[in-house]
Amino acid sequence: MRPKIAAGNWKMNGTAASLAELHSLATGLPENPPQVVICPPSTLLFRATDATHGSPIQIGAQDCHTEGAGAYTGDISATMVADSGATHVILGHSERRDAHRETDADVQAKTCAAWAAGLTAIVCIGESEAERDADQTLDVIGGQLDGSLPDAVDAENTVIAYEPIWAIGTGKVPSIAQIKEVHDFIRTRLIDRFGAEIGNALPLLYGGSVKAANAVEIFAVENVDGALVGGASLKAEDFAPIVAAL
Ligand code: 13P
Repeated sequence: MRPKIAAGNWKMNGTAASLAELHSLATGLPENPPQVVICPPSTLLFRATDATHGSPIQIGAQDCHTEGAGAYTGDISATMVADSGATHVILGHSERRDAHRETDADVQAKTCAAWAAGLTAIVCIGESEAERDADQTLDVIGGQLDGSLPDAVDAENTVIAYEPIWAIGTGKVPSIAQIKEVHDFIRTRLIDRFGAEIGNALPLLYGGSVKAANAVEIFAVENVDGALVGGASLKAEDFAPIVAAL
């Protein structure tokens, strides 16, 4: 049985005042909640883990460096993320692949660094609109999976998030058939590479314009084990119904 996971990516949003959203979210969780992971900006990691202490909400970072420490101005290491009490780190988000030119090899190295620090890596993949229009979606996704995941993947240390770039922050959501096609493809690819036990146990999240209004339908897709949510994770009142839909 794979865990259900509702993950929120706050991106470059949130100040100390936003910690109140974590309190509201924690208070409103259903009795047997799915895994809930909120990834605030790194400035809030320590305070976010404090604010959620004693609640089922887990905290994640949005990136980490491949090295544990050193002369890398502006970066944070997986060791530092773990030191904050966070348990997860998003890696290879399309915004980092694009704006920071992160490659599959970078994502793979960061995933190893995350594991070494005891973190669970949420590894993001997804095609651009041009790639989808050119019928390259599955090739792109397959290549990203092959390149971004280290061989030592297991179901305890890794989550895969499929986020079509054209669906992020646009209000455009793939059809249910399109989501199913990609998630089934990812599942098969994982089983082929890591074997049935690990391949079947790895959680697969969908991300891109997930809202309360479309969550139920998306979560009904067989190989969708949850969501990585951007905009709708910023306010507890928007995120709570998505958590409840899982
Ligand atoms: P939106 O939910 O705002 O489309 O963002 C998705 C995303 O990029 C989460 O990582």
